[in-house]
Amino acid sequence: MKVLKFGGTSVGSAERMKGVASLVTSPDNKIIVLSAMAGTTNSLVEIANYLYKKNYDGANEVINRLEKSYLDTVKDLFSEEEYRKKSVELVKSHFDYIRSFTKDVFTVFEEKSILAQGELITTALFNFYLQEKGYNSVLLPALDFMRTNKNNEPDTVYIRENLQRLLKSAPNKHLYITQGYICRNAFGEVDNLQRGGSDYSASLIGAAVDAVEIQIWTDIDGMHNNDPRYVEDTKSIAELSFDEAAELAYFGAKILHPTSVLPAKLANIPVRLLNTMDSKAPGTRITSSQHKGRLTAVAAKDNITAIKIKSGRMLLAYGFLRKVFEIFESYKTPIDMITTSEVGVSVTIDNDRHLEEIVDDLRKFSTVEVDRDQVIVCVVGDLVAENNGYANRIFEALKDIPIRMISYGGSEHNISLLVHVKDKVKALRALSAKLF
Ligand code: ADP
Ligand code: ASP
Ligand code: MG
Repeated sequence: MKVLKFGGTSVGSAERMKGVASLVTSPDNKIIVLSAMAGTTNSLVEIANYLYKKNYDGANEVINRLEKSYLDTVKDLFSEEEYRKKSVELVKSHFDYIRSFTKDVFTVFEEKSILAQGELITTALFNFYLQEKGYNSVLLPALDFMRTNKNNEPDTVYIRENLQRLLKSAPNKHLYITQGYICRNAFGEVDNLQRGGSDYSASLIGAAVDAVEIQIWTDIDGMHNNDPRYVEDTKSIAELSFDEAAELAYFGAKILHPTSVLPAKLANIPVRLLNTMDSKAPGTRITSSQHKGRLTAVAAKDNITAIKIKSGRMLLAYGFLRKVFEIFESYKTPIDMITTSEVGVSVTIDNDRHLEEIVDDLRKFSTVEVDRDQVIVCVVGDLVAENNGYANRIFEALKDIPIRMISYGGSEHNISLLVHVKDKVKALRALSAKLF
């Protein structure tokens, strides 16, 4: 079995959905994971924000606009009246459901139910389209197998058992269609795997069915060696290791959701990143093979806060770092980068929800400085210590840019540098010019 995931742009219009259909209908069995049509989840977030503020006119305006765009898609997608009628009813029932929230209390639970609607509608329409064209397809409801546990981590045992059960209950099918992104949490409530989480769904599904390959189809020909949104002439990378891909995804390469590499890596399932607009392009293949002797790619992670923690008594003191880490742990706030000196330690975080409490607690035994608007620029490659000169090339590229922190040696394939957001694009471009 192969798992193929198509992102929002890949199913962003009736034309695109037809294109996807032509890519998936070869005779081998497949699980097809879809995101919502491009722009849908953003609109659903907008609707939820209006509903929190009890701005029902605002909410209704976005609901009507989004509903119309789905009804227009239905018109263009189907040629048979029967399917068009079924699809119009389906779209209307989902939007009536969304409208029902304009009359009631609105909390995070209702918000999550709303956010799930995009994937539910998109997969249902795509399934109808395949059936209209005579393909043997069936919907596998993600809410019946995709689940997180009390730590908000995927419950892999539950996912495997229930997905296998659903597959067995629909034998003789050729194309299994399911929703990315959405899941149930440990309490059985509708939830999601965070924005961009359909890649994660695909990887979890691949692991749960022991897939031979996981394909992530998107709007670009694989992982590029720098962020194409900011840097010109970036190039697609033919081969990446799981570790390199995970670092790039974690440090901002949007083509992959940060957590999506791990399930595939643990199950050793190759991942291919492919382009829906250019299906013949080789894209990127991600496997366990490490690639020696190269600097592979650059990525940047935004919205980073740096915290400098100084202790007058760090000299020969032990227990200081433990106290610092315990505070971050108690607020469930992960640290990305860390550098230490005789007198203190600097760390970065990207989740600043508990920043105030963290700083208050740190101030009980140290002086604290906070710098916002920072960016982690990350260079990924074969960065073992023996590869003399690689670090030098990186610093040479960044010689005109103030660097706030450097982290090297924590992993064999990553150097991370912290710069101010105003220098981000300059840093990315300078690195591409010098390294590739
Ligand atoms: P999808 O909707 O298919 O999930 P995304 O928008 O989430 O697509 O991811 C694809 C986008 O990721 C590309 O259009 C590109 O702009 C962006 N991107 C950022 N960094 C990279 C990179 N290093 N390589 C390729 N694409 C990248
Ligand atoms: N539709 C969701 C989002 O926009 C999930 C995804 O695209 O992966 O975040
Ligand atoms: Mg994405």
